[in-house]
Amino acid sequence: MSCKELIAKASATHCLTRNELIFLLKDNSCSDLLFAAADDIRHRYVGDEIHLRGLIEFSNICRNNCCYCGLRRDNHNLTRYRLSQDEIFALAQHAAVNMGLKTIVLQSGEDMYFDQDKMCEIITSIKSLNVALTLSIGEKNLSEYQAYKAAGADRFLLRIETTDKDLYHRLDPGMSWQARKQCLDDLRTSGLEVGSGIMVGLPDQTIESLADDILFFKQIDADMIGIGPFIPHPDTPLKNAAGGTLELSLKVMALTRLLLPDINIPATTAMETLASDGQTKALQAGANVIMPNVTLTQYRRHYELYPGKSNTNYTPDESLKVLRDKITSINRFVAADKGFHHRTKNGKA
Ligand code: SAM
Ligand code: SF4
Repeated sequence: MSCKELIAKASATHCLTRNELIFLLKDNSCSDLLFAAADDIRHRYVGDEIHLRGLIEFSNICRNNCCYCGLRRDNHNLTRYRLSQDEIFALAQHAAVNMGLKTIVLQSGEDMYFDQDKMCEIITSIKSLNVALTLSIGEKNLSEYQAYKAAGADRFLLRIETTDKDLYHRLDPGMSWQARKQCLDDLRTSGLEVGSGIMVGLPDQTIESLADDILFFKQIDADMIGIGPFIPHPDTPLKNAAGGTLELSLKVMALTRLLLPDINIPATTAMETLASDGQTKALQAGANVIMPNVTLTQYRRHYELYPGKSNTNYTPDESLKVLRDKITSINRFVAADKGFHHRTKNGKA
């Protein structure tokens, strides 16, 4: 089949084989066609509204040593910070009440200070603001995920990073791919919406493994998938790596939209870091979510997963204004609801 026929097949059936995915990922002559098809499927299944999720980066302290990440334990060039529960609540309140955001995302390194009791207190306080709440705080056990759900949390983001197990074990020393997969299974059991995703352009990552990643998203029946280019950080072991490209990241994202038509897919910050129109391109190639950063500038600059991540010249309110203008400029609009994953019959695996 030609790439045009394969894209038509994916749009109609939401299924592609591994070889078909590899073919489309390798053939760049069809990228624009692929982006247009993903944009069309996005429009048909989740509409033209864009869900804004206010991101609070509440601690950059991490017990892990992921080779790609600027927050890794062994990076001693980073000023570490941890927000108090009152500070976290104040940011969430500002995002909900003054900025009108309907979802709050709490993200951090794996900071063991925030144990189950503290997290549940934070969750309960934020849920009083009538917002949806997403957590992105790393690997926990089933009873912790269940406790977060009982306290009111709605969703959890845990990227699998790559389905190439050998690559994962090389890049995430001391961690286990099976344990991470178990976390995703436990999240499903807990009743939280399950978000996962990968980085594109990790050293030695193959096109074949990216095809496996996309099939993995379908296999776990994800509710959300975040895909971003890997961007090397100078204070990590991968400082000399080439990093990912915007085009390949967009292609993986667009194929994910074709295969999982009704899920939530963010236009990621890493895409915007590579190109000033990266998020706009993503929104026109399958994405329907943006996560504006509502962390105060003084802390945000220290949440440096990769260089150039945060536009520190803008306050959160100014960033939101820029974002709203961008959304309007492409004839889309900001959603009024909380943006849960509404599964459609055809969207089911
Ligand atoms: N610590 C939690 C975890 O690992 O799940 C949540 C925060 S972690 C910083 C969020 C995501 O940042 C990771 O899942 C990874 O995909 C991404 N990330 C880390 N370093 C990156 C880099 N150098 N370039 C692009 N994305 C990166
Ligand atoms: Fe820690 Fe997450 Fe960064 Fe790994 S990716 S070092 S777990 S913050």
